[in-house]
Amino acid sequence: MECSLNKKIIIAIDGFSSCGKSTFAKNIAVKLGYVFIDTGAMYRAVTLYGVENGAIVDGVLNETKLIDLLDKIEISFKFNSDREASDIYVNGVLVEDRIRSIDVSNCVSAVSGIAEVREKLVAMQQEMGLNRGIVMDGRDIGTVVFPDAELKIFMTADPLVRAKRRYDELTTKGDIVSLEEIKENVISRDEADQNRAVSPLRRANDAILLDNSNMTIPQQMEWVSARLKSIIC
Ligand code: C5P
Repeated sequence: MECSLNKKIIIAIDGFSSCGKSTFAKNIAVKLGYVFIDTGAMYRAVTLYGVENGAIVDGVLNETKLIDLLDKIEISFKFNSDREASDIYVNGVLVEDRIRSIDVSNCVSAVSGIAEVREKLVAMQQEMGLNRGIVMDGRDIGTVVFPDAELKIFMTADPLVRAKRRYDELTTKGDIVSLEEIKENVISRDEADQNRAVSPLRRANDAILLDNSNMTIPQQMEWVSARLKSIIC
């Protein structure tokens, strides 16, 4: 972008599951030299901890037990230059890969519906944005975490396109999953995320809609560059 990048802003990216929010957010952060935070990874990390410490057994969540464990979960990020994004750690252990499993995906919406979990993670997210210069993606960034973000984008795409993207991502890594299973997960998470009592997934009134069903990544970057110019330059 051919303009002064002195003005540091907050960019909030929300939207439905598997829309490519994190890839988009990461690319924007790299372009601007900003920090990128994938807040979905934080909810996934808490879910994984619950699975590994007896608060989620056979897919059934024990809410009280998970709330009791919360104080023991220390989440941190470390920049990984190979993927130009931060990896997530729980109590010092790298969990970046394990949090993407279908088992975690199937339980994460139940965990993210717990008020105590949201309170802890939202406080961390707000602290990370104190100096601005951050691109954060999630479900409640423009509505709850940073209602004063200078640029808010709400992403959506056809559910089948989204399921296919997530399927390709997982099978490339060697995971054994079916497209049908992924589609069900994407649709049920959207439903749970929109209908939960605490901070449901909503498009903020001032968020710009981006439907990327038929857009390539370069096209999405072109789309956002035009919007960024009017705010940063
Ligand atoms: O973005 P991702 O699909 O990895 O997010 C996993 C889950 O975490 C979502 O389905 C949602 O339940 C939860 N989440 C949330 N609020 C956020 C980010 C994610 O509730 N800000």
